[in-house]
Order: sequence, then structure tokens, then C-alpha cells
Amino acid sequence: MTRVLVEVTHPIRWATVRRIVAVEPGGYCHGPVPVYVQGRRVRFIDCGRRLPRDEQCPACRLIVTVQPAPTSEPGAPAATGSVSRRS
Ligand SMILES: [Zn+2]
Repeated sequence: MTRVLVEVTHPIRWATVRRIVAVEPGGYCHGPVPVYVQGRRVRFIDCGRRLPRDEQCPACRLIVTVQPAPTSEPGAPAATGSVSRRS
């Protein structure tokens, strides 16, 4: 079961930013399905690429979890995005 964690932020009131925070791969497919070309079996592909979600094996099934971004503390300094370097 592939798990994807998505973080949602609203930097400005009318904009929504979705960011993939983590991806946990599910592993190899447990039930590959054949691909036929002109009646001849050509190869096997992962069931997640062909079958609808409810027919996919547990390894191919995709689970997306959406969570709000953590808010900064009121007294914490705001991140500015610039970094000073000393050598
Ligand atoms: Zn599969």
C-alpha cells in the first residue's frame, strides 16, 4: 500500500498550496495483469496501472492523507528565506 502524505497551506487567502511531504512505497505488485496486443500476450504490468482502485492488490493501492500545515507559534520568529553564510 503506497502512502502519500500531502500538506495543505494557504499562503494567501485565495490560494491553496498542496505539497507532497512523504511517499512510502508499497512494494512490488502482488497480481500483475497481462497486456494483450492483437490477441497475443506481450507483457505483464502492475495491476495499479490497469485495474480500478477496488480491484488493485494491496501493494498497488494508493492512500493519500491530507493534513494542514503546522502553524508557527505566535512568539516564534518568522522564516525569511534568506541565509547568511560565513566562511
Ligand atoms: Zn498490484
